Amino acid sequence: MSEKTNVLIVGAGPAGLATALELARYGIDVRILDKAAAAQKESRAVAINPRTLELLDHCGASARLIAAGVKLKGARIVVGGRVRATFDATRLTHRYNFMLGLAQSETERLLAVTLAEHGVKVERGVEVTDVEVDGDRPSVRARTPAGETTIAADWIVGADGAHSAVRKSLDLDFPGAPYPFHWSLVDVDLAGDAEEDHAEMRLDWKGPIMVRVPLAPGRHRVISNGPGVLARLPASWKPGQAHWQSDFSVSHRMVKERGRGRVWLIGDAAHIHSPAGGRGMNLGIEDGVGFARCIHAKASIAGWAERRQHLAARVVRESDAMQRFATAKGFFGRRIAPALLRSMLRVGPLHDVLVRAIAGFSDHKPLHFGGDH
Ligand SMILES: Cc1cc2nc3c(=O)[nH]c(=O)nc-3n(C[C@H](O)[C@H](O)[C@H](O)COP(=O)(O)OP(=O)(O)OC[C@H]3O[C@@H](n4cnc5c(N)ncnc54)[C@H](O)[C@@H]3O)c2cc1C
Repeated sequence: MSEKTNVLIVGAGPAGLATALELARYGIDVRILDKAAAAQKESRAVAINPRTLELLDHCGASARLIAAGVKLKGARIVVGGRVRATFDATRLTHRYNFMLGLAQSETERLLAVTLAEHGVKVERGVEVTDVEVDGDRPSVRARTPAGETTIAADWIVGADGAHSAVRKSLDLDFPGAPYPFHWSLVDVDLAGDAEEDHAEMRLDWKGPIMVRVPLAPGRHRVISNGPGVLARLPASWKPGQAHWQSDFSVSHRMVKERGRGRVWLIGDAAHIHSPAGGRGMNLGIEDGVGFARCIHAKASIAGWAERRQHLAARVVRESDAMQRFATAKGFFGRRIAPALLRSMLRVGPLHDVLVRAIAGFSDHKPLHFGGDH
């Protein structure tokens, strides 16, 4: 069996779904495949930034995401039990001047529901095993419940995550290195004094850090760069039921080339980095929506790739710097870093640069901030 389509997306994670939605919105033929028989249920990325909401506005997904999520005004930096600084997202003069807390499983579900309304359904149980970059008609080999198949397309998008089969088929390097930390996370009900409208970063310059993000009323994600975070939660948060726990390690890696011919990579298939700053999922959605807009406008995909590579490299660097700063130890960690952080966040323009980066606008110059700081 051999089939033809216009754009074929491999992988129905957030990056692939957002790409499919944007293409479908323009009336471009799109198919989206995923090897998993069912949608994944893990909460994974829990913060959607304003830039992502802006990009998903036109296809009708943002209103749904906002209705389902928790609006976060910003993030507190807590050192030694005291709030030392606040990132204030409400200073963004943008219609989305907040971060949105929402479990990734919910984000994916709502993107898939919106996509179905555009007439596109995720084809599940289809695993791409190989890619043929063949002039104007690249194709994939895939295992399906009905047997092996070949699917050709005008464009193929590899949105198949960090272990991307598409990237491996193209023989593209994914250079980088693992971080030394062992991370742990928990999604847990908190009934105490954990703020529902602010995330919180608890810096301990001697031990592991802890980051809390509200993701539904009464429910929070807490992540730490040390093991067993559930056992270390502050008593004042009054922890209740734990819904999901996971231990994981993180690497920073990025492809040197975004693709070959008419086969291109987006999302984790192209870049992975520290969770500091919460950019991972958002960056993949940006990749995909930008790609779709280029296809629609018949603009240069090479130009798109160059811009995305530039931005991804910057995010990998920025998240690395944030992580190094937050986990610094010794004299710098105990004495210099806290003082530096306090004074940095007191200075209006520097605070605004950091918030703009986390909000996804670091590559956008004409975005203004209002209010005093
Ligand atoms: C435990 C955990 C916690 C995380 N926490 C955060 C966080 O707090 N903030 C943040 O920003 N990010 C976080 N991340 C990272 C975030 O989940 C990823 O950045 C995001 O999922 C990337 O989206 P994606 O669409 O590029 O890839 P993925 O979500 O990995 O989706 C890839 C899809 O491709 C499918 N696929 C794979 N191979 C094939 C194949 N050969 N054929 C067909 N389909 C295939 C998979 O089934 C999957 O559905 C976390 C990740 C994990 C695992």
